Amino acid sequence: APVLPGSQAPERPTRRARAKRTVVILSRKRSLYSTRRLVSAIRERGHRPLVLDTLRCCLLLAQGAPRMTYRGVEVRGVDVVVPRIGASITAYGLAVVNHFEMMGVPVLNPPTSIARSRDKLRALQYLSRSGLDIPRTVMAHDRSNVRRLVEEVNGLPVIIKLIKGTQGVGVMIAHTLPEVQTILDTFWDLGQEIVLQEFVAESEGRDVRALVVGDRVVGAMRRKAKTGEFRSNIHRGGEGQAIELAPAYVEAAVRAARIVGLEVAGVDMLEGRAGPRLMEINSSPGFEGLERATRGDIAGEIIDHALAYAAAKRTG
Ligand code: ADP
Ligand code: GLU
Repeated sequence: APVLPGSQAPERPTRRARAKRTVVILSRKRSLYSTRRLVSAIRERGHRPLVLDTLRCCLLLAQGAPRMTYRGVEVRGVDVVVPRIGASITAYGLAVVNHFEMMGVPVLNPPTSIARSRDKLRALQYLSRSGLDIPRTVMAHDRSNVRRLVEEVNGLPVIIKLIKGTQGVGVMIAHTLPEVQTILDTFWDLGQEIVLQEFVAESEGRDVRALVVGDRVVGAMRRKAKTGEFRSNIHRGGEGQAIELAPAYVEAAVRAARIVGLEVAGVDMLEGRAGPRLMEINSSPGFEGLERATRGDIAGEIIDHALAYAAAKRTG
């Protein structure tokens, strides 16, 4: 069983002990690559890692201060939380992250920003307003004039996306109007919301993933779809290669993360003729592919930032 900070014997108040911080990683499994790497980065820096399974966090609410228990033990003494919330547990995960925030614990990323990025449409609404370039996108729920919707996104072929999809699942391409109609009818009948999006043909099955930590890009790769596939996700058989990002891409990625309010973000961009076109922003980006491709210490960057963020909150 994990030892919770509040249940440990008090340490000697030496300078070193005082500086030792407890960093919580909220994660379904400690065996996941990114979770393991974050744990090592915390240990390497002389701090205390604590992996909590999000679904085992018990949130207690009554008049006064919100509290949390984990397998019956009070959770306290946490200095900062790094949430790794998978798409399948978004609702519970957001409740847990919000609870930590209510308990006064700094969380990286904040719950409202995670919620914004989870929904592809919502994220694009923020990015669109900011003036960043995004592929033309339409959300509708009107079966009567699919042709007009397709025209809004510059004609066929079009990309159709489930707004809550991830890892390339729920991203389709349609080449004819009847095909578009069939796909839309199917998802609407299933109660799923979708968006139509301009197909950025010049990206040719490639995209760029930039990992933003604070106001910097700490690693980037170009992902290339396997033959016969337009989706470049690693999970769809795509391959990643480390790249040096052009300044326009660095700037777009950092701005996108700031607009959505994320301290740690995986920003996916298509390479348009005129530069970066923002596609998606991920609040719990996996970084196995990126660490392999870049040989960089992404976990270390995230933990250094988490500690600095917490320190800044403490001093106000
Ligand atoms: P997911 O969140 O499931 O990864 P994305 O929206 O990132 O979904 O799309 C998955 C992949 O499909 C992208 O990595 C990209 O290669 C390709 N793709 C997505 N949108 C477009 C588009 N508008 N034009 C061209 N290719 C696209
Ligand atoms: N989850 C992303 C994908 O499916 C990135 C994986 C990674 O960075 O390892 O492509």
